[in-house]
Amino acid sequence: MDSLHEPSEYEVCDACTTPARELRRYAGDAICERCEGLFTAVHALFDNKITDEEEIVGTLAFVQFAFHPTVETASNYRRLEVVKIVDEVPVMRLRKMAILVVAHERSDIARAVDIEVFSRHADPSEVSALYERTLMERGIHYDQCSGGAIAWSMRNACLTITVKPEKELHPARVPYFKEEYSRGRIYSFAPPSLVRDICRTLLGSANKRTLSGYAYALGDHGRSTKMTSEKTILGCTAWLLGEKDKSQKPKVQRPRIARVLNNHLLKPLDKPLLSEDGWSPEDTIWRDAAKVSQRLMRVGSFVQLSDTESFKQHFG
Ligand SMILES: [Zn+2]
Repeated sequence: MDSLHEPSEYEVCDACTTPARELRRYAGDAICERCEGLFTAVHALFDNKITDEEEIVGTLAFVQFAFHPTVETASNYRRLEVVKIVDEVPVMRLRKMAILVVAHERSDIARAVDIEVFSRHADPSEVSALYERTLMERGIHYDQCSGGAIAWSMRNACLTITVKPEKELHPARVPYFKEEYSRGRIYSFAPPSLVRDICRTLLGSANKRTLSGYAYALGDHGRSTKMTSEKTILGCTAWLLGEKDKSQKPKVQRPRIARVLNNHLLKPLDKPLLSEDGWSPEDTIWRDAAKVSQRLMRVGSFVQLSDTESFKQHFG
């Protein structure tokens, strides 16, 4: 059977060993676009002294998907925040919470509000403040609420609280509300104080002794793991260069990753080199890679989730 691309069109990247169509030469290696983007971002993080753990993890997890992201591409991912731009690399972090106003079809008029909580350390008062700000920006009233619906679900490592008014605007009436949300009391959304209290109860406690609610199933970003920034950056890079692939034996994989890190990062940055003749369980970089892996994968899964959603929007 003819495949779309002949295997001969592909070469293997010297850094991550994945087949790629086009490779570029850097420091004696032929590397793929993804690795080029990764090294560019790592150098930008070191050169600009980015020390915040979440910014390091968010930035490096994102370049795995976007390769050379611009602010425009980065801003399409509402669950991530663009903190700043350094050497043309958007520094990003996973938000603790986000809000999505679900509008009626072919209209901007709100139908429901989805509050998404990603971190167990999200503060319910901050969640309700964001909810209130969003309602105010969209001209949605909540002060005379006489009823409504609040539902929740735990999916994709995210707590979603969906708020709906007591009555939904009939689809036939939607076109008559061009800009302003309908004033009627039955269309009022739940007050922020109620959202705050429900959010607090749903999150519960992630403490092992008093475990309750959903907080334990959410991400733990928002509180540092107290790794140094250098260890976080190198741990993330090692993980993304192949440490995540458990099908490869460490004795093959780790010396290769060490050589790549030495060549592309540690030598040019004048930092102590890793041994390329084998590895020992005492090398802390492999432990650091395991430590950051959960957080890296979490950001990656939210990036992919946004991609799936925009694909669905475009193609139904
Ligand atoms: Zn590569």
